[in-house]
Amino acid sequence: MAKRDYYEILGIDKNADEATIKRAYRNLAMKYHPDKNPGDAQAVEKMKEINEAYAVLCDRHKRQLYDTYGHAGLEGYTTADIFRGIDFASLFREFGLGDFGFDFGDSIFDSFFGTRRSAKTRRKGADIRYDLEVTLEEVASGGERTIEVARTRTCASCGGSGAAKRGLKDCGHCGGSGQIVTEKRSGFAVFRQISTCSQCRGSGRIISQPCDDCQGKGFVEETVELSVYVPRGADTGYTIKIEGEGETDDGLIPGDLYVVLNVKKHPVFERHGDDIYMTKEISFVQAALGGVVDDVSSLDGNLELEIPEGTQTGTVFKIVNEGIPHLDGPGRGDLYVMVKVVTPQNLTEEEKELLREFDRLRRRKGHK
Ligand SMILES: [Zn+2]
Ligand SMILES: [Zn+2]
Repeated sequence: MAKRDYYEILGIDKNADEATIKRAYRNLAMKYHPDKNPGDAQAVEKMKEINEAYAVLCDRHKRQLYDTYGHAGLEGYTTADIFRGIDFASLFREFGLGDFGFDFGDSIFDSFFGTRRSAKTRRKGADIRYDLEVTLEEVASGGERTIEVARTRTCASCGGSGAAKRGLKDCGHCGGSGQIVTEKRSGFAVFRQISTCSQCRGSGRIISQPCDDCQGKGFVEETVELSVYVPRGADTGYTIKIEGEGETDDGLIPGDLYVVLNVKKHPVFERHGDDIYMTKEISFVQAALGGVVDDVSSLDGNLELEIPEGTQTGTVFKIVNEGIPHLDGPGRGDLYVMVKVVTPQNLTEEEKELLREFDRLRRRKGHK
């Protein structure tokens, strides 16, 4: 089916000025808007036609293309391109019509307005990774930590535009359309290439006076203090996500902050899962006689460990429930103590004599 002429659709002549175009559009919208014709599919079709005609004729550049080449002039445009830059919602509001008041499914809404809605989908700012070093004691008890995060945020003064108040003007390079159309004729065919304007990066506007607070960047660097909760039992690599505390610039939705834990190496304990391991030095007398070793370190202070007579070096004792608390559930791991028997040094003559005597006794009984 041949496309109808845009001027004919709006019932205006080719020389109509902007005010006339808008008035004609208003009258037709009042007649065919779905608010006035509930459930009428024909009115929807009619409205789509009127919207498209208006979208082209109210835009200086698109109208010029249409006037010169007819519908062929806009062949390179997608539906989204045709409707770009027109805020139907506020037009309807101005006309006293419902803005999004018609109860259509998304697909009809989209065909009604091209893909304006998806074009409005906002991008998200970058996520930030923050490596937080914590001690074994901290993850054993859990608790709050304050961290300082450096990030970019949307400049509050200009809302991310980078322009001072009234510091935006139409881009001279693309005439405010945000696009550069290059045409090449070859016989009767016209090849059209549409590219995003490099000067305004498609926005159609450029900054004539930059915002003082961000020097036109639209974002500012800031350092904030945030508090983060380190859960009991967390291990290296455990990640805490804090939503919305990442980077934002250009008025985007902020990214997220990921705090990644790194549990520092402990001078005494070695962690394996939720169990911890340590080495305890004891004297050879303690090892031989057995008894209570009363100064065994644990995460919660000193403990007593009872060892039997004749304990050999390298023997491992398990003290239950003195490890790291389980991250997901009650209880905690165990503490493993490996004893190391220390050979005495710097003996006095008296001590040496006692040991020689001890040795004689042992040999008499056939021991080593
Ligand atoms: Zn600013
Ligand atoms: Zn431009």
